[in-house]
Amino acid sequence: MACSFHHKEEFIPSRSSLKVLDKENGPGFLVLLIKDSDGQSVACDGCRELDIPLCVQYCEERDDLEKILKEFMKKVKPKREAQKGPTILV
Ligand code: SF4
Repeated sequence: MACSFHHKEEFIPSRSSLKVLDKENGPGFLVLLIKDSDGQSVACDGCRELDIPLCVQYCEERDDLEKILKEFMKKVKPKREAQKGPTILV
């Protein structure tokens, strides 16, 4: 929700760069970060203009999400132009 507000100034989950999905094979969840906009979801830009990314500011699992985002940005930044599709990081 926070992410869609960051991108569109509206709460539209389908526009978010961040998707949290239940694992199909057991407990826990998957965090997907969108690396390329696809006409629906918007690519994660890491909220570079903020000291703390908006999703992290409102996340109950703030420390975990912060680590996930740092890894995502390290992987995506140099390859952003070459890659397509979401990246699953957890
Ligand atoms: S860091 Fe990425 S996922 Fe988090 S609010 Fe910003 S654009 Fe969305």
